[in-house]
Amino acid sequence: MPKSHANLAYDEVMDTISQFLESPPAGTPNELLQAFSLFGGNTFLPPKLFVETVEQAPIAISITDPTAAILYVNKAFEKLTGYKREEVLGKNESVLSSKSTPVDIYKELWSTIKKQQVWRGNLVNHRKNGEEYLAELSVSPVLNASGKISYFLGMHRDITKVHALERTLSFQKKLTEAALDAAPMVVAMLDGSGKVMLDNHAYKALIGDFRGEEPAEYFLEALHNQIDFDLKDLCRLNKGFTNVDIRLDVPSNHAPRWFSCSGVRIDDFDDAAGSYFKTGDINSCRLLLIANEVTESRNRINEARLNMIRANMAEQQMVQTMGEAISASIFKMQAPLNIIKAAMSMSGTSADCSNMGPVLRQALDTGEEALESLHSALPGPRVEEECSVNINELIHEVLHLSTETLLSKGIVVDWRSAPVLPAFIGRPNALRSLFKYIIDNAIQALDESARDYREMRLETSEENDEIVIAVMDNGQGIAEIDALKVFEPFYSSWENPHHHSGMGLTMAQEIAISHGGSVEIDRSFLGGTRVFVRLHVDTAEVGHG
Ligand code: FAD
Repeated sequence: MPKSHANLAYDEVMDTISQFLESPPAGTPNELLQAFSLFGGNTFLPPKLFVETVEQAPIAISITDPTAAILYVNKAFEKLTGYKREEVLGKNESVLSSKSTPVDIYKELWSTIKKQQVWRGNLVNHRKNGEEYLAELSVSPVLNASGKISYFLGMHRDITKVHALERTLSFQKKLTEAALDAAPMVVAMLDGSGKVMLDNHAYKALIGDFRGEEPAEYFLEALHNQIDFDLKDLCRLNKGFTNVDIRLDVPSNHAPRWFSCSGVRIDDFDDAAGSYFKTGDINSCRLLLIANEVTESRNRINEARLNMIRANMAEQQMVQTMGEAISASIFKMQAPLNIIKAAMSMSGTSADCSNMGPVLRQALDTGEEALESLHSALPGPRVEEECSVNINELIHEVLHLSTETLLSKGIVVDWRSAPVLPAFIGRPNALRSLFKYIIDNAIQALDESARDYREMRLETSEENDEIVIAVMDNGQGIAEIDALKVFEPFYSSWENPHHHSGMGLTMAQEIAISHGGSVEIDRSFLGGTRVFVRLHVDTAEVGHG
């Protein structure tokens, strides 16, 4: 029979624990079993040593009668609660209650242990000095020979600091998440396989724009194309990358979107106990991806660039027109001068007889002088550096410059560009002029045609080390007989040759030839005109862009 009050004798404490260990109730914490099984009753240790061990155990242990009246407490209990043994013996464990634990918890505790089961949970206790602490408690019933509860074994420890740490961590996590969500940039943390472990509102919004697909995959693909970045190499990288501009063709947007991306390597942590002493080798890393949308500024820069190109081309056009006018004057002056020369070379002519010789000589000299000054007024060739040119982008720019004209004339443009073209080494301004001449011709042809539906189609492709650009229009077409003539200077068959002096195709061909290429009219094309521009690419020197 258990004693209800006063000190529980050492042998009785031992009996209680031995009894408990003989058939520990289901759910008894391992921690408790381990603490006691080391000195499992009389079997391994002498009784005194056994009790001493319970005494010295680092966890607060108490034994109560079935009403929770304390019969025994160990030293750790005294240290944790601040009560001396004699101060609590005979008192209910409720002496530790700080009255902040909800009654329902106690109800649950009692209903569990009364069913002879182990209860584990947290209670708010207070020490003798009134200081509150969070107790992680387990209460195990100890049964007598007839299967009735004779004692309760209580074990508890102070988890206030652990709880505070958990709270701090959870607070910091919430704070971090709130800060991330408030940030306007896209943030995502990816594991080594590219799986998103953490993201923010801006990233989630992007998932919507990608119609449910994971934007991270697109970012990784673009980064791979742009800077050869591979997630597999992340652990080997000393640092991440900063401000890499990538272009994403987001399905919900017509125009591409631009992001300036930075990536930071974060070493993964291993929380397995076995890795406690491990240092050095990092074999698992995460990528913190930060992407700032720069589409607007990119568009502004692009617009400014286009304006510059527009101004440049207008100037070029003006110089060109001047040159053409002077060339035409030279051409026209040459004829009468030739006649004078011929007249002078004929001795015995009426010119000779009538003493016209000196007059003609003077006219010839003046004419040649004028020709010379016209020649010197001819604008010289423009000097332009060669560089790597993306032909698709360049044609796109030229089309963009002609947008207003195309719209005003109701011309539909069908732009069928090759997804990837090799980079071409050339003079971008000259090449822009080349395509502008051809596109302007197509526009003029469509303008003069009586068609209701006016279409211009542009195609780019790569064929045997050549970039082939086809410009087609469904205008009146070029007669077979004119297919070569159209390249002659000042040849024009337009009904309204207002801004067209007949030098466009001549100039276009000259530019193509100076780039090792050609311009030709496709004679087999029916229903309009198709012009082919072929530019030779030295694939040994350039990469794909
Ligand atoms: P009470 O009014 O005494 O009890 C609150 C509710 O608990 C009651 O409404 C009732 O549902 C239930 N209850 C209380 N006593 C019994 C009983 N004998 N039989 C059935 N139901 C009962 N409490 C702590 O606050 N801190 C501890 O560290 C702690 N350690 C314990 C260790 C052991 C081994 C045991 C058996 C109990 C322990 N208790 C502990 C519970 C404690 O005995 C009290 O039940 C609790 O503190 C509530 O006491 P109270 O005076 O605030 O409320």
